[in-house]
Amino acid sequence: MRKTVKFGGSSLADAVQMRKVAAIILADESRRYVVPSAPGKRFKEDTKVTDMLIRCYEIQKKDAEAGRRSFYDIEARYDSIIEELGLDLSLDEEYRQILSRLDEGTSLDYLASRGEYLNGIILAKLLGYRFLDAADYIFFDAKGNFDEAKTMTAFRAISPEERFVLPGFYGATENHRIHTFSRGGSDITGSIVSKAMASDVYENWTDVSGFLAADPRIVENPSPIHEISYSELRELSYMGASVFHEEAIFPARSAGIPINIRNTNIPSDEGTWIVPDDQITDAHKFITGVAGKKGFVSLSFEKDIGSDKLAFGRKVLQVFEEAMVMVEHVPSSIGTMTVVVDSAEISGKEESILRRIRREIDPYSVTIEHNLAMLAIVGVAMKDVIGMSAGILEELAKVGVSVKLVIQGIKEISLIVGVREEDFEKTIKALYAFAEKCNKDE
Ligand code: ASP
Repeated sequence: MRKTVKFGGSSLADAVQMRKVAAIILADESRRYVVPSAPGKRFKEDTKVTDMLIRCYEIQKKDAEAGRRSFYDIEARYDSIIEELGLDLSLDEEYRQILSRLDEGTSLDYLASRGEYLNGIILAKLLGYRFLDAADYIFFDAKGNFDEAKTMTAFRAISPEERFVLPGFYGATENHRIHTFSRGGSDITGSIVSKAMASDVYENWTDVSGFLAADPRIVENPSPIHEISYSELRELSYMGASVFHEEAIFPARSAGIPINIRNTNIPSDEGTWIVPDDQITDAHKFITGVAGKKGFVSLSFEKDIGSDKLAFGRKVLQVFEEAMVMVEHVPSSIGTMTVVVDSAEISGKEESILRRIRREIDPYSVTIEHNLAMLAIVGVAMKDVIGMSAGILEELAKVGVSVKLVIQGIKEISLIVGVREEDFEKTIKALYAFAEKCNKDE
């Protein structure tokens, strides 16, 4: 058995946390390939090292000396970890190099990546594992897209018997420029490493014991999710359930590697298992979870289609594509096409999009609805029950929620509803209550 283990920022925030991490890794000899984040928050008002680095970059642009000074605070954080761990290690040479790159006007990605880089060196020393710089293994193409083929080839040089620490969050482009994933991207690195090293399991250690069936800020004491399929998780994370980076599912999923979300502070908890869709064993559960997000706009275009029937949908979508606005959902009816988009993305572009639609499609009517919330109730087993969708909508009617949109795909893995933002909390609660009832009835 070989495992890739990724530890998040709060698991590595200080020496006490680092010791917990080392104990977890050394307790199981299959935990060979380690991916750390940068030190996160030690307490609520604290600042993550990545945010300190981003700030340092911004300060440096305005005032070089102040930029250097703000980097000294970052050095102090690492030095106190090294000292408290009693390690025979100095990062002075690394600091010197980073500072000289800072003076030369380095990129934001380079500076932001140093949080993981320095933490990786410390963790490797603490464990007695080899340190591998992610810039030599994780690759991006010239456009900044992850280059899977080149990355997989680079990893072939590492023996599966090896034990190593490879920092998360960054890699390099062809011309050796450091490039980062989006924020929280160490989860993606962990997933890539588990695929590249053909791991049996990808353990993702964080500060909660996995996923809950609903947001605990809205629902009191929601049930923990012990097992969830890749596609269910995708739906839930897309709809706002955080804990695991949305894109981190793909590499592990393509290699069929189960992901286990675990809690560094309560290592005895089993956490959540994310498994291939056909390997769900918790099959008595019809509904796995509910999640949702506010901040959507729907735009509906009605047209007497006639001769334009074939091209209507394409033309509408093309206008959004060219305006670089991602279309989230497209619920449609005869002669009407509705496009649901994120309000932040369309903000400032709405007028020009409408102008183009009027010019190119000449719709009979346009209806726009702002302040929508979209929510999903998710479960691969929902398809096995007749009346599931009817039950969900009935539950919402009972609590007085007006459902503006309903979307269900043929795989019936989720039912998505669009409601007014002011009904968001009420809808989450009702969906969760329905899920609990359904799972219990079985
Ligand atoms: N340190 C990076 C961030 O704060 C990446 C990560 O933690 O996954 O976004």
